[in-house]
Amino acid sequence: MRCLIIHNPVSGPRSDEIFAFAHALSAAGDEIVMRFLGPAVKNDEVVADVRSFDRVVVSGGDGTVSNLLDCLRDTHVPILVFPSGTANLFFNNIGNAPEIAALASACRAGRTASVDMGELFWKDGAGELKRHGFIIIAGSGFDATIMEKAEPAKGEIGEIAYFLSALSTLKPDVAHFTIEHDGEIDEIDGISCMVANTSVIQNDINLFPGCRMDDGLIDIAVIEPAALVQLLPTVLAGVLDPQGLGLGRPQFKMFKAKEVKVTCTPSLGMQFDGEVISNNTGVFGARVLPSCLDIIIDDFSNLA
Ligand SMILES: [Mg+2]
Repeated sequence: MRCLIIHNPVSGPRSDEIFAFAHALSAAGDEIVMRFLGPAVKNDEVVADVRSFDRVVVSGGDGTVSNLLDCLRDTHVPILVFPSGTANLFFNNIGNAPEIAALASACRAGRTASVDMGELFWKDGAGELKRHGFIIIAGSGFDATIMEKAEPAKGEIGEIAYFLSALSTLKPDVAHFTIEHDGEIDEIDGISCMVANTSVIQNDINLFPGCRMDDGLIDIAVIEPAALVQLLPTVLAGVLDPQGLGLGRPQFKMFKAKEVKVTCTPSLGMQFDGEVISNNTGVFGARVLPSCLDIIIDDFSNLA
């Protein structure tokens, strides 16, 4: 087996675990190539010859993984996500067992699920059209730290409360959203408009009920203007009904679509997978890139 490991050495406190993983993975006849990311290293060059490998391991936090997966789209090389970052929300959405030996064995077995990415479009300050893939959530009117705080491993109810309270306090501005989704138009006032590829946060709570990364659709959610106290029913619904199929999310207006265009007046800023983008136009587009990644899974995975 030829395996390419791409690792961000400054991903977080668990960064060195990738070496134990490489050790656990290695067997007679294997070739394991490790490439290390850094400021002067270009992601597209790191993955240029990836089709000559049997597996590719992407090791880092959500930012690193998002950037690398954007370059690995449609290569159809089995991809193992290795959670070595401070925030590993995407790994937790896959749901594989996190032990090193289990990840090495899943990597060797090479069972995959075909999953989607989202793609975001916006105009920068110079009016130039930009794009970037996203794996978790993109949109406007929420703070970058929310995604880190929502990491499932922490397992405390305080975190989802934080997630929702941050929405209602960090950006108290109410905007008017015009949402064109697959040919239909809705006009809604809200404090945030998020577009999600996958949205499981801590305690297996699916923030946007029914949101899956293998259904060929992106989920769009507008959070209606509300003070923290009004969002509490949503917090409770998340705890009592993690999948959200019974109680739903009272303050969220949700759509599913292949493609969406959002106009936000006034602009509430933008980001994807926790990275802030400079976009003052308040207009963005997003679409699903269906079945563009072959993600390695085990029996525990939500995608199994
Ligand atoms: Mg989906």
